[in-house]
Amino acid sequence: MNGFQHLFIPGPTNIPEPIRQSMNVPMEDMRAPDFGDLVQGLLTDMKKTYRLENGRVFIFPSSGTGAWESAIQNTLQSGDKVLMSRFGQFSLLWVDMAERLGLDVDCVEVEWGKGVPLEEYAKRLEADKNHEIKAVFATQNETATGVTSDIEGVRKVLNELDHPAMLFVDGVSSIASIEFEMEKWGVDLAVSGSQKGYMLPAGLGFLGVSDKALDANKALSNSGMARCYFSFEDMIKLNDTGYFPYTPATQLLRGLRCSLDMILETGMESIWARHNRMAEGVRAAVSAWDGCQLVSQGPEWASDTVSAIYAPEGVDARDVISTAYYKYQTSLGSGLNKLMGKAFRIGHLGSLNPVMLCGAISAAEMALVDAGAKIEPGSGVAAAQAQYRATTPATMKASAKAA
Ligand SMILES: *Cc1c(COP(=O)(O)O)cnc(C)c1O
Repeated sequence: MNGFQHLFIPGPTNIPEPIRQSMNVPMEDMRAPDFGDLVQGLLTDMKKTYRLENGRVFIFPSSGTGAWESAIQNTLQSGDKVLMSRFGQFSLLWVDMAERLGLDVDCVEVEWGKGVPLEEYAKRLEADKNHEIKAVFATQNETATGVTSDIEGVRKVLNELDHPAMLFVDGVSSIASIEFEMEKWGVDLAVSGSQKGYMLPAGLGFLGVSDKALDANKALSNSGMARCYFSFEDMIKLNDTGYFPYTPATQLLRGLRCSLDMILETGMESIWARHNRMAEGVRAAVSAWDGCQLVSQGPEWASDTVSAIYAPEGVDARDVISTAYYKYQTSLGSGLNKLMGKAFRIGHLGSLNPVMLCGAISAAEMALVDAGAKIEPGSGVAAAQAQYRATTPATMKASAKAA
């Protein structure tokens, strides 16, 4: 009756109706003789979204955090030295996990608003003549600050120094939304989850693993960290026959089948282009709002899946978020950790389009004015409209363009 509660947070994202319906199925037998066909198809198609030719992708019944844990436990030993960087709530939590699992973390502190520091990584890797650093970690898309980092650049740094460390990537809010090339970029472990670009409820953790990382896991078969629920060995044994070592979340797997069909039919390049177009409109709006500013410090860092936006001086971003929620039925993302009260976020990933984003921008604009911001009502929406009018979707047919 009141229409939708609008969801513009960077995960969980909106679920397309066909995906929602695909999960509304009776409970099924996860040991049925043909259940393995479903699973093997999923495992094959997940690799396509990761752009991975060799290696494999695991599907864990967990959130993305479980896949983080699996990646570390299965390929490293406690006491191993790793190189990480911290520039937002998610990269911060990953460092925290690595420390709690007993890794010897060399963490580069980076100002929030920037991302993976390639030069500093190069310096520290070059100084590591004995190759004590076993892994380099990079958060591709820092969801708290709306910052995207150059993963291919990290691979280049490793290659130029001929450094054998494994490359770990957090792609939870980037894979299946913005460009990610696991094989080409030589990524060894890539983490994602179901509730962001894959447009599903939370509950599946995805982990792409290269052949090199699978070898590292084999070399640790009788040593390394304690691991059980997230063990590669148990998963590989059963996955090879199309089954799982424990009860899989069957409805989520049905939903994943539908999601992968939609994603692969659209094509990865066109999905990346759509996210860029959606993001450009949001960024145009932010530039038009007096006193507002992206948290990301420069276009080279700006994320195509989420924008974190500083509220003007003297405006509490928490008021903007609660006004948008209660008065305008719109959920915006909150400012995490030290951005609390200072910034709000607009998630622009998953099942969205420019007109929906004009709604998000309009709600944010009304809430900003209500919270005391001296912005011109309509200025952000007008700027986004101009941006969207000047571009066409990658999937639009040539005949429609002529019309
Ligand atoms: C959402 C997110 C996570 C955490 O994933 P969960 O599914 O909540 O465990 C980790 N990293 C990034 C970059 C994220 O956006």
